[in-house]
Amino acid sequence: MLGSALDLVMAAGHPFYDNDHQKVDTPDYSFMYEEDYAKLSAGETDWNYFESNDDFKKMAEGDVKPDQKYWGIAQVGSTLQNSRSGEAKEPYSDPLNDVVDLPTMTTGALNALGQDEDGFSVMIEGGAIDWAGHGNNPVRDIEETQDFNKSVDAAIKWVEENSSWEETLLVVTADHETGYLSGANEARTEDNPEADNRFNAMEGEKGKVARHGWYSGQHTNQLVPFFFKGAGSEDIMARISGTDSVRGDYIDNTLLANLTFDEWWNDDTGQADDPEQPEDAANPSDDGGKEGSSKGFAAGLATGLGILGAVVGGLGFLATQMGALSIDLKPIYEQLKRVGLR
Ligand SMILES: [Zn+2]
Repeated sequence: MLGSALDLVMAAGHPFYDNDHQKVDTPDYSFMYEEDYAKLSAGETDWNYFESNDDFKKMAEGDVKPDQKYWGIAQVGSTLQNSRSGEAKEPYSDPLNDVVDLPTMTTGALNALGQDEDGFSVMIEGGAIDWAGHGNNPVRDIEETQDFNKSVDAAIKWVEENSSWEETLLVVTADHETGYLSGANEARTEDNPEADNRFNAMEGEKGKVARHGWYSGQHTNQLVPFFFKGAGSEDIMARISGTDSVRGDYIDNTLLANLTFDEWWNDDTGQADDPEQPEDAANPSDDGGKEGSSKGFAAGLATGLGILGAVVGGLGFLATQMGALSIDLKPIYEQLKRVGLR
């Protein structure tokens, strides 16, 4: 990634810190190559490298420069908060690590990327929601989902203050559910032959973990919600695949990728390869009065591997380790064409 066309990377996974934000003597290079970390931290690359809470905060406050590449690693191990010590029975009862949170990363990333007049795409992942699901841990699941929810709020605020819904598309979705989280006592097993064998609502009191059940330790095939707002929304609505009697309208899970590649992404260098690109597909209601509006593309938010993770499977494993990740679609698109996938 060090030599890639990405403009911004933010993540946990600092080799010199453990999961409780404590400095360690023996580094752990599970999340990045030793050589890459050495070069980045020594300032021997074209990236601006940073790791302190203050640096993340400054970016969120707008202290960013144009045409710069930013790489931030929070001073913590595998996750910002999910993997910290403690087994409390209620959310936030285990002391929090004093590190940057996802909403702050989100605003900082959007401030940096939003300076590009040609637009940008970014994938922001609440990746530890998945890990909490694998661990069947409702306390961490709530903490991580609430942190992600605040990141969505931060993205909405950023669009409304710095861009507009006419030029930016925001998508909130997941690539899958994990853990088959549902109501308590649903599935009959050897240990629990008296289970109801039917759907039970999750119930409880405000501020407490609801009565619930986990029915898997893995990724599941539960339907996932797909929320979207802004430029290109009409294109999505025009391509609803069908209507589920319980869950409502649904789309094919390749729709967004196809729209992005075939209609929304205006590749100024690739006109010959893609002559049929509509000039203003992302803004059907915009009569073309705004120069460059079709170039402005999209901030995507995802709780799983995300839209881009789904499009580019090879990047998925990286995304699971990251708080935030930006992807310039152009080189990926070129790469896909080269290997014959597009
Ligand atoms: Zn997973």
